[in-house]
Amino acid sequence: MTAAKTQPLTHSEIEAYRVCPQLHAYAYAQQLAPAGEWASPLAVGRAVGAGVAHALTTAGVQLDSVIAAAGASLAVDGHACLERVALDRRDQITAQIATDGMRCATMLRGWWDAWGGSQEGLDVTRAEVTITAPLVCPDTGTPSRAYHLQGRLDGVYRVGGVGDRYGVYELKTTSDTVGEVEAYLRHGTQVALYQYLLGERLRGIGQDPVRDQAPTVVDVVKKPTAKRRRTGPRAESEEDYWQRCVADYAADPQRYFLRAEIEVDPGAHDEARRQAVRVARCLRQDAQHGRLVVRGPRCKGPYGWCRYRGLCWYHRIDDYERVERGG
Ligand code: SF4
Repeated sequence: MTAAKTQPLTHSEIEAYRVCPQLHAYAYAQQLAPAGEWASPLAVGRAVGAGVAHALTTAGVQLDSVIAAAGASLAVDGHACLERVALDRRDQITAQIATDGMRCATMLRGWWDAWGGSQEGLDVTRAEVTITAPLVCPDTGTPSRAYHLQGRLDGVYRVGGVGDRYGVYELKTTSDTVGEVEAYLRHGTQVALYQYLLGERLRGIGQDPVRDQAPTVVDVVKKPTAKRRRTGPRAESEEDYWQRCVADYAADPQRYFLRAEIEVDPGAHDEARRQAVRVARCLRQDAQHGRLVVRGPRCKGPYGWCRYRGLCWYHRIDDYERVERGG
C-alpha cells in the first residue's frame, strides 16, 4: 500500500531530472509551460493513444469510432489551449489543431491497416492503467518517506491471449525510426519500471509477480514523413496530401509500424528503482538547499532548444504560465 503522504514519482519525471534538475523544477514543481503553446507532439501522442486504447478494448470496434476517440482527445487539449492563447494567435493554433486532427486520423488508419484492426492477436484487457507502488530501495529494503512510484501504462495485455499471465503494453508515436524507439524502450528504464509496477499490482491481488511478470509488447507508430507539395505543377490539396500519406503507410508498413515483444535484463527492475531512489534523494536535497540554474550544453537537445530557455537564459517570466497537470 502506498503511504498517503508521499508524492508520486513517474518515469518521465525521473528522466526530466536526469536531463536537467532546473527543467524538472519548472515542469513538475512549478508546473510552468510556455504561454499559449500548442504542444503538437504531446497532443498527437495522446490522441493516437486514445484511439488505439479504444480500438484495443472495444469489441466489434470500427475505424471511424477509433478516429473519433482520437478526435475527442485532441478537442479537449485544443480547447484548453485556445482558452489561454492571445486572440491574435487563435486562428493559427486552430489551423494547427485541425492539421493534427488529420495527422492523427492518418496515423490511426495506417495502424489499423498494418495490424488488421481491433484486438487481432493482442488481448489488451485494460487500457490506460495507472499503478502506484512504494519506492523501496532494492539494496537496503528501505521505503522512501517522501515519494512513491507511479506509472501510467498504456495497457495491460494477456500473454498469448489465454490464462492469467499479464504483460505491459506500451504505445509510442515518433518522428524517429521505429527501430530507434524499440531500442530506447528495450535498453531504457521505462519498461523495467512499468514491469516492476505491474508485478507489484499482481502481487497485490495474490499472483506471483516472478511468474506473471511478462515481457512487454511495444507498439510504435511513426508519423507521416512526406511533405505537402504546395507549389509547382504537382501542388496538392490538403486532402490529396493526406491520401498520399495513407498510401505511403500502405506501401511500406514496416518502415512506419513496429510491434514487438521485448524483455529487459534480469537486473533492470532493480536498476530502475535505484535510479528512482537516487533522483528522489536529489529532489529532497534540492528542496532543502535550493538550486542554482546551470545553463549548459544540455539546454540544446536533439530536437532544438529546451522550452524553458526563455526563463533560464533571458528571465522572460511573462512568457510562461502555470498549467495544471492532470492525473
Ligand atoms: S534552459 Fe537549460 S538550464 Fe534551463 S531548464 Fe532548460 S536545460 Fe535546464
